[in-house]
Amino acid sequence: MACGFLPTRKEIRDRYGNPMPKFHRTDILKIESRPIYAEINAASASVWNECLYQMSRYQWHRGYPHAWDFFHIGSDCEGWVDKHLSKSQPLHSQSIQAVRERYFKSWESYGVLKKRHPNARPPRKQKTFLTTRWKKSAIRFEDTCVLLSMGRGRDKLCIPLPPHFNMSKTEHIATIDLVYDHGQWELHFSYRYETKKNEIGDGVVGVDIGEIHPIASHDGTDTRIFNGRYIRSLYRHRNKVLSAFSGAISRCEHHSKRWWKLTRRKWKRIKTIDNQIKDALHKHTTKFIEYCQTKGIGTIVLGDLTGIRDRIDYGKRSNQKLHQWAFGKITSLITYKAKVLGIQVVQIDEAYTSQTCPSCGNRKKPTNRNYTCLCGFKYHRDGVGAMNIREKYLGHFGVPVVADMDSRAMKMTPPLGFRLKVRVASS
Ligand SMILES: [Zn+2]
Repeated sequence: MACGFLPTRKEIRDRYGNPMPKFHRTDILKIESRPIYAEINAASASVWNECLYQMSRYQWHRGYPHAWDFFHIGSDCEGWVDKHLSKSQPLHSQSIQAVRERYFKSWESYGVLKKRHPNARPPRKQKTFLTTRWKKSAIRFEDTCVLLSMGRGRDKLCIPLPPHFNMSKTEHIATIDLVYDHGQWELHFSYRYETKKNEIGDGVVGVDIGEIHPIASHDGTDTRIFNGRYIRSLYRHRNKVLSAFSGAISRCEHHSKRWWKLTRRKWKRIKTIDNQIKDALHKHTTKFIEYCQTKGIGTIVLGDLTGIRDRIDYGKRSNQKLHQWAFGKITSLITYKAKVLGIQVVQIDEAYTSQTCPSCGNRKKPTNRNYTCLCGFKYHRDGVGAMNIREKYLGHFGVPVVADMDSRAMKMTPPLGFRLKVRVASS
């Protein structure tokens, strides 16, 4: 395809907005348990609970009906709640602020969610523990430890760092979270970087994120298909472990010694599998981004997958598979890895992209792994999806190009498959 077809950078900016110039990275550090950590996260939970209380007071104060589903959030609401929070908890003022922000963020996402899910519930439950966040001004690094401020007049919390900790990155630190994850205490370090200003190519690649093949991409000539068999086997394995344990756990007395033992063991197993899934997704997305870089790709076009879980209904069994699929995870991994290199990522509505023939523009649902059209066009099904997503972004989706057909068929190389070189988990 000639370069004349491609929209300019300015046109892209006008159509899709400016790509974010900054990106975040998170590192996880496991730390040894100390009773104070639970106290700190309990204090954060108290702030959350206080937000709940002040929120209902706000409703009463402004004369709104007192029912969670009809809570009214005026523009002054967050300020009002902030003003009335007692702030007596032993936390840094910005850590308290972070809880409040989180509380209002979850109201925000409830607002979005309830349009699609009638069963969505607003944030109204009390918490016993909540992740605590420190912002940059409350963080100080010393030789072998990190000092976290606990508020004025209180001792700083000193957490020792391992010798391998990378001190050179600390100038980029944005936040630190104290997280309890199934028996393990962790510090999540979030770093903020500026995007490198590289020379970016003009290439555009369309990506179809699917269930059988996590990533299928097309850049105008080459199609790449990433195999998802290993990841699927991990999900099956995860389901089996879950159901095996839940049977045994349900037979014990609730919170008995054996109940705790099994529950701990269950989460340990699940965490291992989740890490394997995460690792596989990282390997695939890294490989994909590397390929984009060598090909001089400047824009990655993804199908917009929000609401895919509502739209797709292929029956119970298939649904379970799709529900679990890490659609969002793949999207976010690709987005952040692309941002690091300065490649922009756009999302477009992927309606009909899997059904339309790239050659003659007719619509037909593919019935097996190959897409065949009456016009004689035949290609890998997910490759067709990726091709159409790319065409849609470039603005000539569904335009019949029959005359161009021969040259296209010649230009198009057969899809190149990628498999992860790992032992397939027993299922
Ligand atoms: Zn056709």
